[in-house]
Amino acid sequence: MSHNVESTAFRTALEVIRGVEPRVADAIGAELADQRESLKLIASENYASPATLLAMGNWFSDKYAEGTIGRRFYAGCQNVDTVEALAAEHAKELFGASHAYVQPHSGIDANLVAFWAILADRVESPALRKAQVRQVNELTEADWFALRRELGNQRMLGMSLDAGGHLTHGFRPNISGKMFDQRSYGTDPATGLIDYDRVAEAAREFKPLILVAGYSAYPRKVNFRIMREIADSVGAAFMVDMAHFAGLVAGKVFTGDFDPVPHAHIVTTTTHKSLRGPRGGMVLCGPELADQVDRGCPMVLGGPLPHVMAAKAVALAEARRPDFADYAQRIVDNAQALADGLLRRGATLVTGGTENHLVLIDVSGYGLTGRQAEQALLDSGIVTNRNAVPQDPNGAWYTSGIRIGTPALTTRGLGAAEMDATAELIHTVLDRTTAGTGPDGAPSKAKYVLDPAVAESVGKQAADLLVPFPLYPEVSLG
Ligand code: PLP
Repeated sequence: MSHNVESTAFRTALEVIRGVEPRVADAIGAELADQRESLKLIASENYASPATLLAMGNWFSDKYAEGTIGRRFYAGCQNVDTVEALAAEHAKELFGASHAYVQPHSGIDANLVAFWAILADRVESPALRKAQVRQVNELTEADWFALRRELGNQRMLGMSLDAGGHLTHGFRPNISGKMFDQRSYGTDPATGLIDYDRVAEAAREFKPLILVAGYSAYPRKVNFRIMREIADSVGAAFMVDMAHFAGLVAGKVFTGDFDPVPHAHIVTTTTHKSLRGPRGGMVLCGPELADQVDRGCPMVLGGPLPHVMAAKAVALAEARRPDFADYAQRIVDNAQALADGLLRRGATLVTGGTENHLVLIDVSGYGLTGRQAEQALLDSGIVTNRNAVPQDPNGAWYTSGIRIGTPALTTRGLGAAEMDATAELIHTVLDRTTAGTGPDGAPSKAKYVLDPAVAESVGKQAADLLVPFPLYPEVSLG
């Protein structure tokens, strides 16, 4: 039984929680056990450090801190100022950005902050100047009405969902799609890669206010220098949502044309995916947009979460250490080993491989939908998620793809040999699963048949694979 400080800290916390609502303490303990046992290949998840996790569970949670560092609408924010400033400083140093706003509660929130900063800068401010007033409250009713119409009548060009774009990049089910007239750019059907000439053509035709780059399921690097040139050619603001690959930027795997920070007007990210911090978001920008970005709360954000900003400061400090660059490189090496292992066993991969942390398997080659594949893998102890592939005939619900990512398993320490073994397990499950039928005998997109003995054997092999790589080895709740 381990008695180190982390174990003591978590055990004590659980004891305190158990004294109030034991079922919550049990669920927290069960979550650790589940995470320890599963082969987690969800590309957007990771394992934050004990220091990051512990920074969130404290009295910072009790504090209101609306406003910005040193300029709050509430008294007594000196300690919140300290952690918010630390998080922002670490972010600026890590990414080479001149301004960092660390209040967004999530990636979606960070994107909303960025959209409204651009709208304020490019639509609202010129209208205020024209009306010769300093703020919207001073506009006449008629000018205010006209400005609201103009704000709601702007255009966004982003990557299509089935090519790997994100719902928040202007798609109708999300507020961004209701705010903006959106058009999307896809990928070349032959290669699966972004065709920059087509993006430029779409930008010329559509003339967006905002060109968005960034993705949830594109397994390749994006050339942000070219994207910026395209944005400049039509006078658009260039925004990059690096939620998925921020860890690869932080770890200097993506540099030069592939580092969004020097090229974009504004960069948004989550802090919990490859960056390995707490659940949250962040915005980076230059001085031109800094003031507008800082208005994120209360513009679109609720009050800041000081306990999460404290955890962001811890995680960003960790990401500035030399071993994080090592980690980031291993994420990509592992993704490539996994892709190679799958290709060798006959799987079809979107774009034929990967240059980042994720691999997208087109499971139609196995005669399955993404949903069937996801469930069959889950039955076998392998946690992934289904995802649309370009021009997906099965739509966004059933899909034809399985997205797998390596940030989490790389944190546990798994390497190329284990990635090959993982490829074997995934291939075995997909190869041995067949599409099922509905009650009427018609083909089903959800039902599937997998011999439970196969699922059990793969599950056992997956668990064995993890034994040498304990999750949170410094934490023992026993
Ligand atoms: N942007 C991208 C590219 C994402 O992949 C995601 C998460 O899936 C988000 C934004 C939203 O992040 P969050 O879930 O933290 O709001």
